[in-house]
Amino acid sequence: MHEVALAQAVWRQVGAEMARRPGARLAAIRLVAGRWSGADPESLEFALRLLVNESAWCEAAIQIRPLPLGLTCKTCGHAFEPPEMNLACPACGGRDVEVTQGRDLYLESLEIEESDGQTHPPRKTRRRRK
Ligand SMILES: [Zn+2]
Repeated sequence: MHEVALAQAVWRQVGAEMARRPGARLAAIRLVAGRWSGADPESLEFALRLLVNESAWCEAAIQIRPLPLGLTCKTCGHAFEPPEMNLACPACGGRDVEVTQGRDLYLESLEIEESDGQTHPPRKTRRRRK
């Protein structure tokens, strides 16, 4: 299960981010998974869900945005998104192509709700004391 290792790596990033915000609540985890990243989004979400459920932020949503494969033809420079299993350049028919998008898998953003002040000192306000 390749996705388990990926989920653990993502989860470490999330944990490091949350450690900097004590008392904050994690609302959502957003990932980008390229079609050629080697990760199955459903398996990844499942693996990540297991980790999230065991944490203090078990209510956090997981959103995985698939990124289509992008290719650039080395012969004519045409950039295109190939249909299934056909990697030939639609402009010149060349098969010498470079993958320019769709290989990455990364943490896009976290939705974090800051502490309501119960576990944190209250924020400074601009109001003057009487
Ligand atoms: Zn071409």
